[in-house]
Amino acid sequence: MIEAEFSCTNRSVVRGYGTCTDGPRTRGCIGVNIIIIGPQACGKGTQAAKMAGHFGIFHFSTGDALRAEVKSGSDLGQELSAVMNAGKLVSDELIFNIVKKVYQTHPEGILLDGYPRTIPQAELVKADLKVDAVVEIVIKDETAVERISSRFMCSECGAGYNTVSLPPKTAGVCDKDGGALIQRDDDKPEAVLKRLALYHDQTVPVVAFYEALGVSVYKVNGEQSIDGVFDSILAAIGD
Ligand SMILES: [Zn+2]
Repeated sequence: MIEAEFSCTNRSVVRGYGTCTDGPRTRGCIGVNIIIIGPQACGKGTQAAKMAGHFGIFHFSTGDALRAEVKSGSDLGQELSAVMNAGKLVSDELIFNIVKKVYQTHPEGILLDGYPRTIPQAELVKADLKVDAVVEIVIKDETAVERISSRFMCSECGAGYNTVSLPPKTAGVCDKDGGALIQRDDDKPEAVLKRLALYHDQTVPVVAFYEALGVSVYKVNGEQSIDGVFDSILAAIGD
């Protein structure tokens, strides 16, 4: 169970998942901040969306947030699009300012999906956001490679296939137009292994970083069905 203090949006404080001192606590009034961490193809995005819905907190995905900020035309958005248009890397400080803006407008709590992904990013967040729990979804490297390298797309119409879960009627051929099925370079095993190495090197240490701060860390087996993983998360965190 999460043993942290939660601020209710009506500013009273509750401990754990109990009753708000102002009366029955609703899920939406828990100001709980959770980080979800996991390698590519572990099902993190799906679980993050389910958790955010369950706990009534905001689902923050870095990619979505960056796109939304650019679209809004804000000062931050303009700065960001200038950096990206110049083909430069978006700095940790700039991403942090965007994350900060999002969590400041979501007192009900936030589910951070895909952030922080490095120690320097975690250091930036540390001073500013109270993290109540970290969920790490664990899968074997072989599983990630297998899940990703089974993805194919039609070279003609772009339709997506998966040789394990959504195979075409004829191997290597699109059902719709007979186009050849190809694999994106990013989905090839070598590319996946490269990203996994980066994940182990830069992101896994973030879990230990929070452990050292005394934040509850829950490791969940990602090699289960979507519902199985979600049930494990709820059983670990406490629903
Ligand atoms: Zn096709």
